[in-house]
Amino acid sequence: MKTARNLLLIAFVFAAGFAQSVKGQDRTVINEAQKITNDRFTVSLTTPRGARVYAVNRPNARMLKAIDDGLANLFALSRKNNYSRRLNYSDYTIFIAKADRLKDSSGQYSPDIAIGAAQYAGSIFDQGGYIYAAGMVVAFNPNAFIIAEHTKHYERVSDVVRYEGEHLVLYHNDRRLFNQTADHSQGGGHPILQ
Ligand SMILES: [Zn+2]
Repeated sequence: MKTARNLLLIAFVFAAGFAQSVKGQDRTVINEAQKITNDRFTVSLTTPRGARVYAVNRPNARMLKAIDDGLANLFALSRKNNYSRRLNYSDYTIFIAKADRLKDSSGQYSPDIAIGAAQYAGSIFDQGGYIYAAGMVVAFNPNAFIIAEHTKHYERVSDVVRYEGEHLVLYHNDRRLFNQTADHSQGGGHPILQ
């Protein structure tokens, strides 16, 4: 799918600290996610299967299950491709941000976050200095990405989790394919893994 909803901005990714304690690492990633979204992630919890969640508002059970389902799909596809690293729920941190829009340009329900255009400037994704994305990778250690709050169509949450997770799995298991697929401004999209 070659749409703005599946974008990743790689530029932010290396800002996360690599040589810090787990707690310091978490704080660095939270700060980064807050800077990107202008949100405050004051709610902290885990999904039933153990993924870490930081959110603006307390997510409901369907949202948490959708995250777990997306990760389950990601792990199954990863194993099918003989990837073995970072396939535990506890390896993942998901930020649930406030949606900056609820519908896409065709009027479909599409809660997305607005992020600075960076390398997408002037591309088909550029909305005038920013782009809308369904999700965005924040860090690789720990594995972290941002998605937007949903109140319906939770299967879309599972898809976005799986898609953002693809970048993280590839980073840790197949750096060459990661590099080829990380930046969608040159084309390409999701799913990457079949
Ligand atoms: Zn992507």
